[in-house]
Amino acid sequence: MPTLENIKIVTSGNDTRPAKIAVENGKIVAFDDACPKNNEIVDCKNLLLLPGVIDPHTHFDDPGYTWREDFYHGSLGAIAGGVTTVFDMPCTTVPPVTNVSAFYNKKDTIIPNAWCDFRLWGGVSAESLDSPLWKNHIEQLKNAGVIGFKTYVLSGMDTFPQLSYDEYYDVLKFAAEIDVLVGVHAEDPEVVNNAAKKISGDSPADFAASRPVEAEVTAIRRVGEIAGEVGAKIHIVHVSSGSGAEEIDRLQKLGVNISGETCPQYLAFTIDDLCRLGSVLKCAPPVRSEEEKEKLWSYIGKSISFLATDHAPCSQKEKNTGNFMSDYCGMPGVELLLPFALNYGYHQEKLTLEQIQKLTSENAAKRFNLFPQKSALETGADADFALVNLDTMYKIDAEKLKSKGKFTPFNGITFCGSVEQTWIQGEPVFKRQEKK
Ligand SMILES: [Zn+2]
Repeated sequence: MPTLENIKIVTSGNDTRPAKIAVENGKIVAFDDACPKNNEIVDCKNLLLLPGVIDPHTHFDDPGYTWREDFYHGSLGAIAGGVTTVFDMPCTTVPPVTNVSAFYNKKDTIIPNAWCDFRLWGGVSAESLDSPLWKNHIEQLKNAGVIGFKTYVLSGMDTFPQLSYDEYYDVLKFAAEIDVLVGVHAEDPEVVNNAAKKISGDSPADFAASRPVEAEVTAIRRVGEIAGEVGAKIHIVHVSSGSGAEEIDRLQKLGVNISGETCPQYLAFTIDDLCRLGSVLKCAPPVRSEEEKEKLWSYIGKSISFLATDHAPCSQKEKNTGNFMSDYCGMPGVELLLPFALNYGYHQEKLTLEQIQKLTSENAAKRFNLFPQKSALETGADADFALVNLDTMYKIDAEKLKSKGKFTPFNGITFCGSVEQTWIQGEPVFKRQEKK
């Protein structure tokens, strides 16, 4: 059994202390002087050790749309980015994970290809509600171990249609009864339809205008109020705007059990970047104005309690159809989540290391009831680690991403702060190659 020596761990703010951690049978068993004396020593050369990153929102598309992404490539990207656990979405799997047979079908397919630990989201779509057994399906999925149920207020997918607000009432009422968390893609269809009528072109700016901030705020308010009424626990995925985060904050203050996540693209880019970069940055909801982006930063660690990627690559052909409106919405992200937090958060003095630890791991583990098994640096917890060099400079090269999707809006940008090693359940699973 190994002891990791010459590591630093975060104490508070940006303060760190030297430490040693002994691992055995996949768990942390001792710290510092309590580490067994005859262990195999792993010299970590003064790297910073963070709890393994949790990405609570990935679309590894397996089984199903595997020309876009599969679990092999998606999870290889995860470990190259210090991500030790992903929560994979139910909607971009075929068949969608809305019942236990689909759950086990997916699990059996991905287990042999998973480089990282994972949990699965279940889902509830308008189609799954057509079954008179829909409540049984939810309950069986809960018992099978899904971490929550993804739903859409606005969906572009034929295989996973959106819920009406009336349907949300029924679903959230039942979710409250059996105490499961419901994830919400929050864009109001009526606001989007009205906005879409007003645009005339098919440029990136038209696309952004067709899915305004108001759609996000309205959907959060409507679903949030239903959740408050029936006592359900909800989580707003990929919050794209400061105004959306502000609405979550308002609902939290009213006592609604609601949380929010956001993604690097919404914190790093604006509509101007979308116009400049084109469909590589196209996602739904779209990136927003500078003002909304800065306001979103102000809610990080408050109503926005963790980061996620909404990792969703596609083929080059789907991304570049010749018409921006029909280009695929989504981008790979899992490999760059922690590097993003180090470069844009720590190095730009927007986040401390302590905050990064919470935003990339601890807060998600807590919200989804995986803490302290996941993310705690204490004895008995899973030995899942990301080892980081805060000072390494390197240029992002989309071609080198492990994902099947060889594109990213961060392409060509110089980052500071690299993931050097990733450990999962006491085993080293990734080591960054030194540049020759
Ligand atoms: Zn998503």
